[in-house]
Amino acid sequence: LFITFEGNDGSGKTTISMLAYESLKAAGYPVIYTREPGGIDIAEQIRHIILDPANTAMDGRCEALLYAASRRQHLVEKVLPALEKKQIVLCDRFLDSSLAYQGVARGIGVDEVYGINEFAIEGCMPDATIYLDVSLEVGLARVASRGNLDRMDQESMDFHQAVAKGYAIVREKFAKRMHIVNADQEVEKVLADTLKVLEEIVQP
Ligand code: C5P
Ligand code: MG
Repeated sequence: LFITFEGNDGSGKTTISMLAYESLKAAGYPVIYTREPGGIDIAEQIRHIILDPANTAMDGRCEALLYAASRRQHLVEKVLPALEKKQIVLCDRFLDSSLAYQGVARGIGVDEVYGINEFAIEGCMPDATIYLDVSLEVGLARVASRGNLDRMDQESMDFHQAVAKGYAIVREKFAKRMHIVNADQEVEKVLADTLKVLEEIVQP
């Protein structure tokens, strides 16, 4: 099973997906945790280039191609081998992030970004996606409290609003695999709701 976590910045994807991983592991499921962009050495190197706040000159299509390139390597090196071993893969971000951020917020187009990603993933789509639904106010407040901002964290309110709009399109496009959790709630409640959804997905 390939399960991805999606949502705007500050929705709690990393926190919740890691806690969910710990919980499934403790319950005895064969589960691995990974993240995008990154998860393996080559993809982490690409992540570094993409997110470096100094790279203000980066073109939107270049950015989209780098995400797709890192996705490809991560998929081949880590996700596919785990799926072959029948492991449950929990992945912090995947394709939907590219459609929302580069496709919509950067204005490249959902179909265009989907095209290069089809090339990169060769049909390996998530079985299920936990969408952490956060309001812009709560999400951006969480990001601001982190410090150490990456290149996209420094984008405008309009950009993050456009990401949310992008995710709305993505949720409609892939409604069948989407599971929406209210991420404005406290972490404990978001986790509890997420685990409820996951139990239904992982139980045969
Ligand atoms: O999820 P995480 O915080 O690790 O993502 C790193 C940064 O990359 C975030 O600021 C996010 O907004 C940005 N991002 C992006 N396009 C993607 C995926 C992530 O701009 N496709
Ligand atoms: Mg972030």
